[in-house]
Amino acid sequence: MDTYNFAAGPAALPKPVVEAAKAGLENWKGSGQSVMEIPFTGDEFAQIHEEAVATLRLLLDIPSDYHILLLQGGAYGQFSILPMNLLRGRQKADYAVTGHWSRRAADEAEKYCSVSIAASGFKSGFSEIPDWSEWSLDHQAAYCHITTNETAEGVQFKELPDTGRVPLVADVTSDFLTEPMDISRFGAIYASAQKNAGTAGLTIVIVKENLLGQALPITPSVFDYGRLVANASKVNTPPVWAIFIAGLVFKWILSEGGLAEMAYRNRCKAKSLYAAIDDSGFYRCSVAEKVRSSVSVCFQLPDSGLEEVFLSEAQKKGLLNLKGHSATGGIRASLYNAVSEEAVTALVRFMDRFAVQHKYTHLSSFN
Ligand SMILES: *Cc1c(COP(=O)(O)O)cnc(C)c1O
Repeated sequence: MDTYNFAAGPAALPKPVVEAAKAGLENWKGSGQSVMEIPFTGDEFAQIHEEAVATLRLLLDIPSDYHILLLQGGAYGQFSILPMNLLRGRQKADYAVTGHWSRRAADEAEKYCSVSIAASGFKSGFSEIPDWSEWSLDHQAAYCHITTNETAEGVQFKELPDTGRVPLVADVTSDFLTEPMDISRFGAIYASAQKNAGTAGLTIVIVKENLLGQALPITPSVFDYGRLVANASKVNTPPVWAIFIAGLVFKWILSEGGLAEMAYRNRCKAKSLYAAIDDSGFYRCSVAEKVRSSVSVCFQLPDSGLEEVFLSEAQKKGLLNLKGHSATGGIRASLYNAVSEEAVTALVRFMDRFAVQHKYTHLSSFN
């Protein structure tokens, strides 16, 4: 039976990447060594590292005054590391709270500065992103932080706020490389790799040159952006294997047609899944249509008691890891780049049948 992985992270990898990884596992480029065995200070790793960085630069069309850092610590680590590096002597930072992950980011930043909530989705139950007219931006803020895709709620920014001279920074973990993005709009972005850029253990930071060099004295050396730039991300041992895998993912995206092609495919997948939800008269997605995520599709059944049945029947059909985030419950299908259109078709077919089978017993509880 074919299986389809809809996990939120660690998530599905493209099959050609897994195939190419096998060679790196045993005998990288005929060197007789596994990628896991080569020294990070040597020429072989330098080649892997430089190729990954160059491919990523090409994919995202990253301007030359931006640096790419490959480090450890996860996106959650960046909730601390980013303020330590980017406060630059200022005492305040703006945070838009649009769901679970941006809430966490704001809470963590409170340890280092005074956090001002520039916008909050609380009133709408995090089903909407507040209109720009409702945002209150502080012109003294060191930066304004957003989470471009709220992985737990399925809410995604479709446009970026205009923060004027205040640098916009973003946790882009769950929609990184799912569509083109204009890096020049940001002071910095960061993403952990296990959602869309490979495997756990690697965090990618892209930061503008003019923001570097003013890290708080307490910043750990291994997380000091300026120091990382000066040492090509090799202040200490980088996650060698995860960087190798990320490089393979970047090359795979390029060979498939780049980010415009990824955006097209992701839009098609999301469109058919949301249509199946909306047309069912059974499933329900509470996220406002204009901010529905094209990668984290979250929805509910008419009766939460049915969730376990849904999940176990889905699993029997090879449709894996559809359980919603623990903070929000419900069902979630992550439609990252490696999730094929065929996988979404299989899910839609399963959902249609499930709805018909359970509709009449549960319809009455839907009001
Ligand atoms: C998964 C996720 C995180 C946490 O990533 P870690 O690698 O576990 O630290 C943070 N932000 C967003 C948007 C996420 O999706």
